[in-house]
Amino acid sequence: MRPYLLLTPGPLTTSESVKQAMMSDWCTWDKDYNLGIVEVIRKQLVELASSQPDEYTAVLMQGSGTFCVEATLGSTIRPEDHLLVVANGAYGKRMGVIANYYRLNCHVMNFEETERVNAERIEEYLKANPEVSHVSVVHCETTTGVLNPLEEIAAVVKRHSKTLIVDAMSSFGGVPIDMAKLGIDFLISSANKCIQGVPGFGFVIARKSLLQQCKGIARSLSLDLYDQWETMEKGHGKWRFTSPTHVVRAFMQALKELQDEGGVAARHKRYCENHRVLVEGMRSLGYKTLLPDEWQSPIITSFYYPSQDFDFNDFYQKLKEKEFVIYPGKISQADTFRIGNIGDVFPDDFRRLVDAIRNL
Ligand SMILES: *Cc1c(COP(=O)(O)O)cnc(C)c1O
Repeated sequence: MRPYLLLTPGPLTTSESVKQAMMSDWCTWDKDYNLGIVEVIRKQLVELASSQPDEYTAVLMQGSGTFCVEATLGSTIRPEDHLLVVANGAYGKRMGVIANYYRLNCHVMNFEETERVNAERIEEYLKANPEVSHVSVVHCETTTGVLNPLEEIAAVVKRHSKTLIVDAMSSFGGVPIDMAKLGIDFLISSANKCIQGVPGFGFVIARKSLLQQCKGIARSLSLDLYDQWETMEKGHGKWRFTSPTHVVRAFMQALKELQDEGGVAARHKRYCENHRVLVEGMRSLGYKTLLPDEWQSPIITSFYYPSQDFDFNDFYQKLKEKEFVIYPGKISQADTFRIGNIGDVFPDDFRRLVDAIRNL
């Protein structure tokens, strides 16, 4: 069931037992599914995300992670509100694109893709533009692997009493985040990233008191976050439309495996070790990382092409023959490729990868 390791930031390599969990059929109307699986997942997600679980609630939504980002922006921001999108990569920019589709009042603050977001610049902007009501930012910008300074950003946004929306798609479950402590209002992630499930749905963890005020804001039926939440609450785990039952069952298994590993702190430690082994090994072969170590996340790492005549497609194919699948780069300023550290992968896998690259 594993022809090669996916060293990609989702879909990623999943365990045998997560795949096995998909081997039965579930009825979306039956309590075995709603109460026994969906409600358990919603409760566990809130507990993972917040030290004050009573203040938060979780909504699961069909589709990939972007569907949840769109559902959140489209269901929580009113025509009279103003959204500040802070972007230092493709996923930040995508939030600006979504805001334009919905004709929201949107301000975009751009940073270089090779830079971290700067909380002081957000502070200046909020002082100069008091009409801003919501701020959205990406935690780990998967475009490069940069980890934005979420604590500093959250402190500024909260000091100005704005609603904070965080795309923690590629970090949640792999990097500790306490929504209550930081004051995050909406946090978005998906099944196929650090929780190590398979793709098919995403989830939003929301401050209950804010989500309760969002009835009727959505401009899309299928992406109405409030309505999805209300149905799940009242129906005790019922989804409005067909849910990806097998994927959801696999996700419950993935959550159990996260707990068995020792929770987010232990998983973070493993990802950091994966990253350390990878980077030390690659540096010993002469490869250079795009980002300075202080900004680098343990999620995914960008490397410069080692030479002008480097042929990525050839490199990719040869590594695939050795059973490792890596990722092309995604930025315009430099020629890079990316290697993911997340999934059911371990430091020894990265030692083998480095050996394989050495022997190419
Ligand atoms: C993966 C990812 C997304 C969502 O991408 P989809 O292709 O829609 O699943 C959004 N933001 C970030 C930071 C991501 O890493």
